[in-house]
Amino acid sequence: PPLPKNSPVGRLDDDDTYSRYAGASRFEQFPLSKKTKDALRESKFVVMTDIQRASLPHALCGRDILGAAKTGSGKTLAFIIPVLEKLHRERWGPEDGVGSIIISPTRELAAQLFDVLKVVGKHHNFSAGLLIGGRKDVDMEKERVNELNILICTPGRLLQHMDETPNFDCSQMQVLVLDEADRILDSGFKKELNAIISQLPKRRQTLLFSATQTKSIQDLARLSLKDPEYLSVHEES
Ligand code: ADP
Ligand code: MG
Repeated sequence: PPLPKNSPVGRLDDDDTYSRYAGASRFEQFPLSKKTKDALRESKFVVMTDIQRASLPHALCGRDILGAAKTGSGKTLAFIIPVLEKLHRERWGPEDGVGSIIISPTRELAAQLFDVLKVVGKHHNFSAGLLIGGRKDVDMEKERVNELNILICTPGRLLQHMDETPNFDCSQMQVLVLDEADRILDSGFKKELNAIISQLPKRRQTLLFSATQTKSIQDLARLSLKDPEYLSVHEES
């Protein structure tokens, strides 16, 4: 049956493991790992926002997402939680290397994402690194970057590592996140982004979030997403 207009949830196939969770309104209703659930509860994240409710059932069952929702709607947890759950389910460990790459338009936003990851991922044992340039220690970064499981980066610094760091290996990467993708493109990173995507494994999950839906976002979606769920949430307030 067609979904009601304004429904925060897009297409849900009958055979989806997670479709029965489409009506969930609280994080604890999802079959998340205890480590994630405990951290969410301890951080007082209880009721999901609309974009989290709309996207998590899809993202948790491994689908690509194009999520559009305005600033402040809670997009960060809509991708941090699926990243943690995927690596947890894969029993990702120190020797498995880079499992997820999260790309952010600016150093400041990347640093904020890192703080959220530290809070929600605190009971997991994944290593994470902030690769945002503007630092002198790129050589030290180069030695350590392959030991990290989750990379939060700006496009320029990530591409620098892809180009310059010997043995930088993303061949096992599972989940790519493009956060604030409209701002990444507005900042003139289109070429860098395309170069990065072309070097990542084709078999992956991609979560693309943006505050706006523009033509260039559609182009990026065509290039980077496979059979995505289009989720657009506009909270009335
Ligand atoms: P966006 O990326 O869409 O601009 P953020 O992910 O930065 O939004 O979240 C905006 C604010 O809302 C943050 O302060 C965050 O801690 C808070 N927040 C996000 N999800 C929830 C939730 N489920 N319950 C309570 N607060 C939340
Ligand atoms: Mg954001």
